[in-house]
Amino acid sequence: MISFYPGPSRVHDEIPRYVADAHKKGILSINHRSDVFVEMSKKTIGLLKQKLNIPKNYTVLYTSSATECWEIITQSLITHRSYHLYNGSFGQKWFEYTKRLRPEVTPLPFDLNQKLNPRELIFEHDSGLICITQNETSNGTQVSNTTIRGIKKNNPTYLVAVDATSSMGGVFLDFKAADIWFASVQKCFGLPAGLALLILSPEAVKRAYAIQDQAHYNSLPFMLDMIEKYQTPFTPNVLNIYLLMRVMEKSKPIKQLHQQTVKRYEAWMKFFKTTKTIKPLIENTVIQSHTVIPVTSTPEVISLIKLAVKKKGILLGEGYGDYKPYTFRISNFPALKPAEITLLMTLLKRY
Ligand SMILES: *Cc1c(COP(=O)(O)O)cnc(C)c1O
Repeated sequence: MISFYPGPSRVHDEIPRYVADAHKKGILSINHRSDVFVEMSKKTIGLLKQKLNIPKNYTVLYTSSATECWEIITQSLITHRSYHLYNGSFGQKWFEYTKRLRPEVTPLPFDLNQKLNPRELIFEHDSGLICITQNETSNGTQVSNTTIRGIKKNNPTYLVAVDATSSMGGVFLDFKAADIWFASVQKCFGLPAGLALLILSPEAVKRAYAIQDQAHYNSLPFMLDMIEKYQTPFTPNVLNIYLLMRVMEKSKPIKQLHQQTVKRYEAWMKFFKTTKTIKPLIENTVIQSHTVIPVTSTPEVISLIKLAVKKKGILLGEGYGDYKPYTFRISNFPALKPAEITLLMTLLKRY
């Protein structure tokens, strides 16, 4: 099966070989306090910074999932005030998880076809957290680096947190434009699930130490102390960190990968100009995601397509939530091969 599911998604072809290597090298049973682990963890973080253009003074932490990052951020960086800008299911879920722990959160939903305007987003209190879902996996919209930078600039005393789960590793993200970034690896990184990255600016680190949350195993001050030694408070997903290191070693720099992603996205958009019954769900190209492409049609055509491509060994992403009956989603992640994309286009051509 070739998976175009936008997460968990197609893993890189080399993964089985890397897993075998990990077994051969004894990585599967190494102690997470050992020198071997520390070396591997240090190398992985170094490679991430280098390949993804993460500023040197930012801190990279390991967590288990993006959902866990939502919770860590809430516990350790929100004292009471946070604003949640969202237009889809993942952003809304982030808001809902936060609300359970910090009831004073403010939801700021916006329209599916609306482009956020930083000039209209100036918050009056003295500080707090602004939460943005950079790539909304449920509906295929994205918030640009420029918009994120503008929001931070207009609210300099706030920390800006960005969920980039389905874009990090596939498109260029301007890490300097915000304070907190996170993503799990089963989407754009092309790895198996069970590991996520939480990336903090020096300002976010300072805030975490000032707030001094100490109530959880993954309270940020504790995690930050541990990552000084390239370690985690808990036993991390050692195998996945190893796989991430191997994938990063071979990965092109993000600016190059970004170009490839955009080129493939443009090819999809050109393709959908030629189809009769299917078209992209999001029509405003300014906010269209480059990595997740939801396609819409009548429920009959959608079911027909899903069945037809399945027979040829292709798995499409289900539409999300309310969109389910009349959409499917195509991931545009780096691990997909040109021949696989061509095959899917060939199968979709007659619709
Ligand atoms: C998939 C996804 C999540 C949840 O990721 P987990 O690793 O399953 O916790 C959160 N946010 C976005 C934008 C996602 O696409």
